[in-house]
Amino acid sequence: MDKRQFLTGNQAIARCAWEAGVKVACAYPGTPSTEIVEEIDKLEDISSEWSVNEKVAYEVAYGAALSGSRAVVCMKQVGLNVAADPFFTSIYTGVNAGLVLVCADEPGVFSSQNEQDNRNYGPFARIPILEPADSEECRLFMKEAFEISERFDTPVMIRLTTRVCHTHTITGLNIREEVKKHEYKKDARKRSMIPIYALKRHEIVEERIRELKKFNEEFACNKIFQGTRKDLCIISSGMASQHVLEVAEDISILKLAMSYPMPDDLIGDFCSEYEKVLVVEENDDFIYNNILRIINKEKVIKKPDHMRVDELNPDRVRRILDENIDNTSSDNTKQDDLSLPPRPPQMCPGCPHRAAFYLLRKYKYTITGDIGCYGLGVLPPFEAMDTIICMGASVSMAHGFDKGNKDAVGVIGDSTFFHTGINSLINSYYNNGRSAVVILDNSITAMTGGQVNPSSEKTKTRSVSIENVVRSIGIEDVRVIDAYDYNKLDKEIKALKDREDLRVLIVRQPCVLIRKDRPSKPLFIDKEECIRCGICLKVGCPAISVDQEKRPFIIGSFCFGCGVCKSVCPKGAIKDGE
Ligand code: SF4
Ligand code: SF4
Repeated sequence: MDKRQFLTGNQAIARCAWEAGVKVACAYPGTPSTEIVEEIDKLEDISSEWSVNEKVAYEVAYGAALSGSRAVVCMKQVGLNVAADPFFTSIYTGVNAGLVLVCADEPGVFSSQNEQDNRNYGPFARIPILEPADSEECRLFMKEAFEISERFDTPVMIRLTTRVCHTHTITGLNIREEVKKHEYKKDARKRSMIPIYALKRHEIVEERIRELKKFNEEFACNKIFQGTRKDLCIISSGMASQHVLEVAEDISILKLAMSYPMPDDLIGDFCSEYEKVLVVEENDDFIYNNILRIINKEKVIKKPDHMRVDELNPDRVRRILDENIDNTSSDNTKQDDLSLPPRPPQMCPGCPHRAAFYLLRKYKYTITGDIGCYGLGVLPPFEAMDTIICMGASVSMAHGFDKGNKDAVGVIGDSTFFHTGINSLINSYYNNGRSAVVILDNSITAMTGGQVNPSSEKTKTRSVSIENVVRSIGIEDVRVIDAYDYNKLDKEIKALKDREDLRVLIVRQPCVLIRKDRPSKPLFIDKEECIRCGICLKVGCPAISVDQEKRPFIIGSFCFGCGVCKSVCPKGAIKDGE
C-alpha cells in the first residue's frame, strides 16, 4: 500500500472494486448508494452502467460473473426487493467469478419509503453478509467479499448504511489486482434451475452456509475490543459499533464483520466471560434474535423496542447504556445536540413539475404517485399525491383504482417509467384499463443527483423515446406537452377527466439542474398591481418570498424564469424581467 486518502464509504467501495479487478459494475441510482457507480464510472478498466432497474442490474452483473469476470452490483435497500427474484436463485447456482452485491440500508429514512433492514435477507436467501463500519473497512471487506465469493461459489452481500456510505474516513489505496478471467463451462445442472436441479442445488446451499459459518469462526475481520469490566459485554456491527466504541468505557466489545452466518462458537466463547450481554444494532434485533440460539435469554439485553425506529447515534447509544445498565457510558450527563434547524424539502425554482402539480391539485384528482423528486408533490402547498409506495406502482395502482370504480391519475417520472412503470402500463392496456397516466419527463434521474436514463440525451448510451414506447404498446391517446406552456397544460390536465380510454400525457422539460440556459430573465412583481391574494405562493417556488407587510416579491437571483407564477397571477402583476 503506498497511499492513503480521505474517502467516503461509497468512494472506497468503488476504489476497491477497481483494485479487486472488477470488470463489470451495474446499479440503479438510489440514495445512499448512488455514488458508487458514479465513482466507478471515472475509473478505467471497468464497464459500468446505469441499468433500468435493480433486477436488471443484478442480472447483468450476475451474467458477467457467470461468464468469468468479477462483477459488482449496487442498490439501495428497497432495490433488493426489486432484484429479489434473480438474487435468491443466483445463490443456488453459484457464480464462477466473484459477484458482490453492495446494498445500502437507510436507518432514519432520509430518502426512502421504508426502513427495512436488509440483514434479514441473509438467513432468508442464505447469503453471507459483511458489514463495514468505515471507509477502510469498505475497501478491505470488498476484497474479502470477492475472495469469499470465489472460494465458496456464492454471491456475497456487503450491507452499508447511510453514515458509512457518506462519511469520509482515512482509507488505504492499493494497485489493481490483475484477476484472470475464469473459464466458462456449460453446466445446466448447476445453472438451469428446473425443479429437479434446484432441489439438488438447495442441498449445496445449505452445506455451503454451514461451511461459511465455520469460516466466520476464524474470520480475522471480526474484532474483539477488550475492556476490564466483567459484568457486561457488548455485541455490535456496522455503524452501530462505531457509536459503541465512542461512548462505552471499559466494556469488552465483539464487533462482527460478517453478521450472517453467525460465528456461534466465537460469540458463545466471548459471552461466557461476562455476566450480561448487551446487543447494540440499528433497526431490527437481527443479531439479538440470532444469538438467542446460542446464549441463555436471561443473560442477553436488547435495546429498547422504540430504538428499532430511526438510526442510532452516540447519544442514543449512550441512552441505551444508561437505560439498561448503570454507570456504563463515558459521560452520563452529556447529551449531544445533533439536531439541525428543520429545512423542509421543496421543488427547485423553475422545476418543470411545478405547474403540473399545481393543476392536478386544482382539478382535485386522486393521484397515485411514484418515487422521485415529484414525490414532493405530496407536501404543502400542493398536497396533490394520494399514495407513494414504490417504483412503478403509480401506473398499476391507478389501473387498480379504475377497476375499483374510482377515477385516478397515475403520476410517474421518466426514470421510473423505464424502471417498472413500463410493465404496469402494458398491463393497463392489456387489461382494458382506462386510467390516466401523466409521465413527468425531465430527462434525468434527478432525485439521486442527475444520473442518465434511457430518456436522457444521447451520451455514451442510446436514447429511448417514451412516446414511441407508449405508442408501440398500442395506446393511441398519447399527448406530449411542454411543461412550461401553462395554458395548454391547464387544458390537458383539466381534460383528463373527460377521457374515454387509457390516456398518457407526457409533460416534458429538462430538469433545471441539467439545463444550461434559462427560459427567460428573472421575473419581478409590480407592487402597484399586486393585490396580495397569495395565489403565486401556492406554486411553492423558493424564489418567491414575502416582505414584512406580507407583500410577495421574487428573489431575482433564485428565479429561473419558468413563468409559472406569472401564469397563475389573476392581476397580471408578475412581469418579465428586462
Ligand atoms: S418564474 Fe416564478 S415560479 Fe418560475 S422560478 Fe421564477 S419565481 Fe419561481
Ligand atoms: S398572485 Fe399576483 S396579485 Fe396575487 S399575491 Fe401574487 S403577485 Fe400579487
